[in-house]
This record gives sequence, C-alpha cells and structure tokens, in this order.
Amino acid sequence: MKDETKLATLGRDPDGHHGAVNIPVYRASTILQPDLKTLKQVQGARERDEQVTSYGRIGTPLTYAFENTVAEIEGGYRAISFPSGAAACSGAILSVVKGDDHILVTDSVYGPTRHFCDTVLKRLGVETQYFDPLAGAGIRDLLRPNTSVVFLESPGSLTFEIQDVPAIADVAHKHGAKVLMDNTWGTPLWFKSFSHGVDISIHAATKYIVGHSDAMLGVAIATKESWPALRDSTRAIGTAAGPDEVYLGLRGIRTLAVRLPRHMDSAITVAEWLKGRAEVSRVLHPALPDDPGHAIWKRDFLGACGLFSFELDKRYGEAAVAEFVDRLELFGIGYSWGGFESLVTVALPHRIRTAQPWQGYGALIRLHIGLEATDDLIADLKAGFDRLNRIQG
Ligand SMILES: *Cc1c(COP(=O)(O)O)cnc(C)c1O
Repeated sequence: MKDETKLATLGRDPDGHHGAVNIPVYRASTILQPDLKTLKQVQGARERDEQVTSYGRIGTPLTYAFENTVAEIEGGYRAISFPSGAAACSGAILSVVKGDDHILVTDSVYGPTRHFCDTVLKRLGVETQYFDPLAGAGIRDLLRPNTSVVFLESPGSLTFEIQDVPAIADVAHKHGAKVLMDNTWGTPLWFKSFSHGVDISIHAATKYIVGHSDAMLGVAIATKESWPALRDSTRAIGTAAGPDEVYLGLRGIRTLAVRLPRHMDSAITVAEWLKGRAEVSRVLHPALPDDPGHAIWKRDFLGACGLFSFELDKRYGEAAVAEFVDRLELFGIGYSWGGFESLVTVALPHRIRTAQPWQGYGALIRLHIGLEATDDLIADLKAGFDRLNRIQG
C-alpha cells in the first residue's frame, strides 16, 4: 500500500462504531468491566502490551488508532501520544537517560528542548553537550563512555542545517548510544527516520499532523527495542494527550499527503523569489539546489514542508526589520507552524547557540508558507521590501 492509501485507510473501524467513518472521541477516565474476572483479564492483556481499553490515561480505541497510524506511516514499531510536542521531546529523552549520563544534542535544536536539557536534566545529573549540527560522523570524537543519547533535529527549525542522520546513527550505535530525532519538519511522510537509523522519532503533531493551528499534540514513535522503555517511562510520568486533540491529530493525518506537497511547492516558489531579491543575503531552505544541505536532503528526504528562513542584508537595522515584518498582511506574527496559514517570526539563533556561535549575520526571518496563493504572498513580501527600502535604502 502506498502512503496516500495508508493515510486514508489506517486506523479506521466503521464496524466497531455503527458505521461511522471516523472513530469517535472517547471522553473517558473509568472503563467499566462486567466483573472481576474480566478486569483481571484486561489487566493481563495490558501487561502483555495488548492495546486494550482499560483506563482513559492509557489509551482508547481513538488513541491507539492515532498512534498506530503514525507509527505505520513512518515505519516504526509503536507510538505513544503526548499532550504537546515539547512533552514528547522531554518524555522521549527521559525514557533513555539515567543520572550521571552524558548526552549529545544538536546545537540547532528547538529552544524549549534545550531548556529542558539545561534545567531538568541538569538537575537530575545528566550532562548535555551541544554539537555542531554539521558534525556528521565527527560526533565520534565527542562520545564518552557514559553517552546514552544523541539527539538530532534535521533540519533545525530556525537555521535549517540538514544532518547526516545515517552517519551519526552508525557511530552512535557502535558506541551503544540511542539516536532520538525531532522529526517535526520531515513529518512521518517525508522523513522515514527508522530506515536512517533513528531509535525514537518525535513529532510536534501540533504542526503538520494537526495541520490547522487548533490543537496541541505530540507523539513519539519507537523501534521495537526502544518501545518498552518509552511506554513504561511515559506511563510512569503520567502524561496523556487529550481525546479531542488526538481526534484532530488523526483527522489531520487524513489530508497530510494533499497539504504537504502544496506547502512544499509554494515554499520553494517563495524561496526562489526571495533569492532574487537584493535585500536578501541568503535563503536557508534545503530543497534549493545550492543550499549546503541539499545533497543530503535529496538523498534522505522524500519532500520538504513549508518552513524556511531567509537572512536580510546586514545593513538593515531593527527598526527596518520591524517595518518589514509588522505590516505584512498575509503573514501572522507568531510561533508554531504547520497550519493552513502563513506565519512570520524573527529568529534569534545568536542568543541560543553555544557549540557553533551564530554571529555576524543579518536579521534571520523565518516564514511558514501556508495554503494561500503564492502570487498574493509574494505581493505581500514585495510591499514589505518597498517599506524596508523607504526607511533604509
Ligand atoms: C513546535 C515544536 C516543538 C514543540 O511542539 P509543541 O506542540 O508546541 O509543544 C518541538 N519541536 C519542534 C521542531 C517544533 O517546531
């Protein structure tokens, strides 16, 4: 079965739900059992890792349908949902590390993941070392006897470096470390992380999986080997995604293969246009042929999403950048991405980076290209450049 067919068919059970096409939302805490014998059987099934509905926090037919669908699309063994992408990142790390461990995290990692490492993990006695996202097999030199995790994010969601995941995974596995990857940009559709050596793949489902900017949801998918620890650790911590959010996640998945190609094509169109502008010093988008990460992106990814950045020429100061960004009409100013609508933010990697300082560059503007017509988006950006040049030519 091709992915498009899987997206439309997996996780459905009309016979079990009066013919309804979609599995309804189960708003449940208690699951009643007819007698103690059945209760015991259900408990036994749960201990054997069968997907039984025994308690709301553990999972319902809807939760399992969502998790199984995502896992199957990406090629993992099993998945577990989280109330947010941030919770999925921290939950996945916590399922592997123990006190006195050392972990390697890409310097391009999502800011709140970094915050988790620098605060909670530090307090638990886990040392985080950030590494150059372009290190590839060079992480060999950074591994220590107690290194248990190598955490990747490719491309980084502000600066868009593509990482050589298979090369890194090879070195990490020889050393006995697990490879965790924030695969939100690639989505389960366009980066098949498990065929590139990842042990646990993490998604902010809030982004393209939900796809409509109306829910917070995370999911972590594991190989068979990494699954028991991920499951047990997550259950012990007690995080659970809300049923309405899971419903929106599964609904979003149904149209992922239609939305993503459109986001990709539109983003490439806008990125190419930006490259031709004198105000822009570079465009950071791995699908562009002259991007430094292009060769690896082409080798490993099946597509690109609608998120990329561009750098303005250094001559534009803060006031000019604000003049450009603030009055864009079709680009909302705000965090997150992956919805149907276009967004803009100014990224500040120089404030975050430690392994590879981000210095001497112009303002970095991150765009999420939504489903609007690219002519309209380009006209909006062009008016922005006109304003920029009026205030600072
Ligand atoms: C948004 C995001 C997250 C966190 O997801 P939330 O659902 O907002 O908690 C994690 N990683 C990346 C790359 C993201 O863009």
